[in-house]
Amino acid sequence: MGLIVQKYGGTSVGSIERIKAVADRVARTRARGERLVVVVSAMAGETNRLFALAQQLSDAPNPRETDVLVATGEQVSAALLAIRLQALGLPTVSFLAHQLKIITDSRHGGARIRSIDGGRLRAALDGGNIAVVAGYQGIDPAGDITTLGRGASDLTAVAVAAALEADACEIYTDVDGVYTADPNICPRARRLERISYDEMLEMAGLGAKVLQLRSVELARRFNVPLVVRSSFTEGDGGTWVGQEEEAMEDVMVAGVTLDQNQSKITLTGVEDRAGLAARIFGPIADAGMVVDMIIQNARSADGRTDLTFTVARGDLRPALELVKVVAGEIGAAGVRHEEQVAKVSIVGVGMRTHAGVAAKMFAVLAAEGINIEMIATSEIKVSVVINAKYGELAMRALHDAFLGDDPGAAKAQSA
Ligand code: ASP
Ligand code: MG
Repeated sequence: MGLIVQKYGGTSVGSIERIKAVADRVARTRARGERLVVVVSAMAGETNRLFALAQQLSDAPNPRETDVLVATGEQVSAALLAIRLQALGLPTVSFLAHQLKIITDSRHGGARIRSIDGGRLRAALDGGNIAVVAGYQGIDPAGDITTLGRGASDLTAVAVAAALEADACEIYTDVDGVYTADPNICPRARRLERISYDEMLEMAGLGAKVLQLRSVELARRFNVPLVVRSSFTEGDGGTWVGQEEEAMEDVMVAGVTLDQNQSKITLTGVEDRAGLAARIFGPIADAGMVVDMIIQNARSADGRTDLTFTVARGDLRPALELVKVVAGEIGAAGVRHEEQVAKVSIVGVGMRTHAGVAAKMFAVLAAEGINIEMIATSEIKVSVVINAKYGELAMRALHDAFLGDDPGAAKAQSA
């Protein structure tokens, strides 16, 4: 008999009808003889609704009280699902974070899990019960309610699966798996049967929203096999996320991602001497802003350099303010910015063994007349920054070139 953790996202439990459908699916899994823990998100829209309520009462709602508020969404879904499962005659117990000792640090709104005491869950399962767990929430060492960050019911599910050494963690959502590109932008995008943790981490980090980033990190660390499936369709399809396998290297590129939410800042005429990069990026990091890509160009003529980097578009204004101050202090010639840039990336463990992936990417973009403004590479990824208005075009062109109708890629994909 296996032990399975299933997680149902907000749209999957978004209405009474949907909760009934989830209960039916849980009942079928149970009928196969599996031991079962079910982690649930708040009903679709509920977490946003709760945040908005707090905003109506204060411009800066207290983080501790905000967590007390927004954690209720998952409490409601957990109870409703347990009530339905019991109505179907299935012994079920629901649990909140404090009952399972899901201990986190005290960073309200983005807490990190330190430990889970699996004892209570194991006892419930040993007693023949289905356990339903409220996702997204924890308690800090003082016993205060915390939340783990937006989308973090996935993280609860993976953490519970790791704590119980479950055989699999099944993430049910409103799409039927991880795709080679965003199907809304790329009509020819297709579902991947399997993807490695490393590829999934890159894709989640680069803006593919199927799985929460930290949940993939945790799954990799504890080697929890993950599968992403739709709760709206029948069948066992989906995408498995797990350890790298040899066949994965036959495919040069597993997916193409697009982040259209970036801005670019350039400091021109920066003196070329030690310590200046630290002077520039220190204050930005201190303000909690994440700098993504950075390039520095030496200007041979006058011994000065230009320094260009990207930030999330929402951080552009505050980042510019900080950079302008530093630019004055260090005697840089000027500060320029471009508000609308996009980052397009190709991802695949096959890049380790295939030469010429980057060159092909640049050729594809050149053929579309798209100018590349910045380039960054890692072992399994090549990213370029381009003008945002060409983002979708670039994604489609790259997808067709690397993952389109190429029979070789399709064959390797299904191997
Ligand atoms: N309900 C939380 C959110 O909306 C957590 C989750 O859905 O995973 O972010
Ligand atoms: Mg989600």
